[in-house]
Amino acid sequence: MLGAFWKDGRIQLEEVPTPSIEKDEVLIKVLASGICGTDLHVFAGKAYGKEGIIRGHEFSGKVIAIGEKVKGIKEGDLVAVDPNITCGYCYYCRRGEIHLCENLRAIGVDVNGGFAEYCKVPFKQLYSFSSNISPLEAAMMEPVACALHGIEKIGIKLGDSVLIVGGGALGLILMQLAYIHGASKVVVVEPIESKRKVAKELGATYVIDPLKEKVDEIIKDLTQGRGVDVGIEAVGKGDTVKLTIENMRRGGRVLIFGVAPLSDYIAISPYEIYSKELTITGSFVNPYTNSRALALIEEKRINIEKIISHKFSLREIEKAILTGLSGEALRVILYFEE
Ligand SMILES: [Zn+2]
Ligand SMILES: [Zn+2]
Repeated sequence: MLGAFWKDGRIQLEEVPTPSIEKDEVLIKVLASGICGTDLHVFAGKAYGKEGIIRGHEFSGKVIAIGEKVKGIKEGDLVAVDPNITCGYCYYCRRGEIHLCENLRAIGVDVNGGFAEYCKVPFKQLYSFSSNISPLEAAMMEPVACALHGIEKIGIKLGDSVLIVGGGALGLILMQLAYIHGASKVVVVEPIESKRKVAKELGATYVIDPLKEKVDEIIKDLTQGRGVDVGIEAVGKGDTVKLTIENMRRGGRVLIFGVAPLSDYIAISPYEIYSKELTITGSFVNPYTNSRALALIEEKRINIEKIISHKFSLREIEKAILTGLSGEALRVILYFEE
């Protein structure tokens, strides 16, 4: 099979044997595989990526073979993959906080993933989906599940005003989930015009170009001078976290969703957190949210088609990565012939 390995600081397409499965594993033929921002960080040399691994953790496929201990899945099934494999026995797993697992391993990060024609996956990581949705939509189960965890963690109330800083693929998924969760208005801050346009098409109340407009003045105008109830940072930069915090009302709640570089720091006044009674929290991956994320996609409660801006074949992966790195794309996805 053909697989895209991360080796010596670049992506290398190689022909390798199709993996053989263990008793509790399933072999899937990959049908769609999204290129995540975290993959792009690795490909740009801005984050560490394990050597010699086939990356790709947002993917779907068709079941080709099953191990003898596999339950609930059969050959021919269409499946989406939860890449995060937890141990089940550490302190966190035993307290129901599986995403904080001390032994967390991720498919496409620590073991071979979906930038390949075939991938083997433990069966408990798989979620079946119907042919009502495309494999491309199903491949977005994982990012939607991560966004769902974030939205539930920050606890949007019916009628809340929400600011989303960053109108990339995840920012626009978060926006749609914020509306489902009862937001009255969602304001999206995004410097790229094409992304602001999609944000508008998907229902953003207001979009702001931070390069040309004053974010704080517009937020004040939209909230009778108070600031928003909930702020979500979906860029992954210290500066944008700071911008989000600065636009909160008293008692506001901030979610840090973007993956910032380890070297980024921000200065915050503790007095401001104290006196405004701000809540600032992070959200990490997708605990217990995959099946509900897939249900929302299957029932077309969120629009995934507009989030996928570019499609490439596996052989075009270098072009796909360059498109992702250009900053103009929403989600770039690899698709495979059935
Ligand atoms: Zn991802
Ligand atoms: Zn664990």
